[in-house]
Amino acid sequence: MDPPFSPDRGGDTDQETAKLQLAKGLADKAKHIKSCVLPPRYSDVYPSGHLNKIIRVRIPNQPPSTLWDISIEDGRISSIESYDPESSDHRPLSGVLDGSNRLLAPSLCHAHIHLDKCFLLQDPKYSDLQIENGDFREAMEMTGKAKARFEEDDLLRRGRQLIEESIHYGVTAMRAFVEVDGGVQFKCLDAGLKLKKEFEDRCQVQICAFAQLPLFSSHDSGEEIRRLMTEAAHQEGVDVIGSTPYVEQDEVKMKMNVRWVSMMALFNGKPLDLHLDYFLEEDKQPLIWAALDIIKGRNWMERDGKQITLGHCTRLVRFKEEDWQRLTRDIGKLPVSFVGLPTSDLFMMRTQEMVRGTLPVPEMIKTYGLEAAIAVNNVGNAFTPQGSCDPLSIASLGVGLYQAGTKKDAEILYETVSLRAKAAIGCEATSLNLAVGEPADFVLFNRADVGWRCRKSLVEVVYDAGANRQTIHRGKLTTY
Ligand SMILES: [Zn+2]
Repeated sequence: MDPPFSPDRGGDTDQETAKLQLAKGLADKAKHIKSCVLPPRYSDVYPSGHLNKIIRVRIPNQPPSTLWDISIEDGRISSIESYDPESSDHRPLSGVLDGSNRLLAPSLCHAHIHLDKCFLLQDPKYSDLQIENGDFREAMEMTGKAKARFEEDDLLRRGRQLIEESIHYGVTAMRAFVEVDGGVQFKCLDAGLKLKKEFEDRCQVQICAFAQLPLFSSHDSGEEIRRLMTEAAHQEGVDVIGSTPYVEQDEVKMKMNVRWVSMMALFNGKPLDLHLDYFLEEDKQPLIWAALDIIKGRNWMERDGKQITLGHCTRLVRFKEEDWQRLTRDIGKLPVSFVGLPTSDLFMMRTQEMVRGTLPVPEMIKTYGLEAAIAVNNVGNAFTPQGSCDPLSIASLGVGLYQAGTKKDAEILYETVSLRAKAAIGCEATSLNLAVGEPADFVLFNRADVGWRCRKSLVEVVYDAGANRQTIHRGKLTTY
């Protein structure tokens, strides 16, 4: 190997001159190849990077026959004007994206996704771990075995794949759960923080340091998890603190879990995410009442407590009218939001009588005015082997699941994977009407060449979204 170049190294002048000549020759050759041979790049044809304007698009809540031009400044919508074919210049201009009659809508969001245990069923490293029974116990065991083998390279490989695929589907924000415990220590968290940085220009990745295992039911491991979670909660880049009270062995310990983790979130000024009441049995009481009491007992509002997000909560399907009324009263002004996870619930949650259930999210929004969203939860693992990284696939499933097929219902379903999902995790959102000053976070549906089959409204998108999309995050194209 050549010694490192040093300008004050004497006696090698001829060698250096030869090197410089060789470098110049290669540069000339590269210039020649570039000017004669290379095909046009994507960026020569389409604008790349930051956009000033998106022209000729349909937007939600407007007649499909009208087209609009959206101007963007500093990553935000600066004007929305009707498209004028007479005055518009159709030559490809830098920073201008021609929407060609396609539908432009607010971008999508994963309000709840597990970054560290995605694609375990696809990654060759874990090919020996395949589903034999398809139940919750097996999913816990298989994931436990996989976690014992987690290393940075496969955490980054699988996590990167999940974020890339999500961006392709129109996602610009997500809450990513990474587990912290005595086995994985900070491996998942560190990989999550690296990916958050890697994708910061293309997607807002919130990192939730998450205790999936019991904090109190096992003396030694619980103590270690609490020590690690305390350290993680202080760490820069960790946005949210979360835990899973339902894995504790009894109600006393579940309450201890909520007390401990809510204190940790409040103390660190971070949002709280609880995976709660993940069962369906009517004779088993839900923890949500006690959880709300504990949080209120902390004077959450007076102490500037942040968003509280409650995931799963399948037991709430047993609620009667009076329980829902009580829930809205008990929540009061607390910043509580719910995230239903229908694909996981359908696969994992059933009673002995084969009753299945998932949070009735549209009903919670329409009838009780609760903040709620739906999310993908898991991709490619034993908790949820079916499904993709597309939040709209969950909205589409919702049409049948909640019997929500009207235009209004479809719009609510779209919201639950877009602006309501962002609100559920405390992210700034773009409204369906698109208003000046809002973030320029969009998804543009379809290719330009599909004619009448082009999706013209949110209803069509929720019924059948199609896979071909372009994503814009803070005025920047993030898909190529
Ligand atoms: Zn989850």
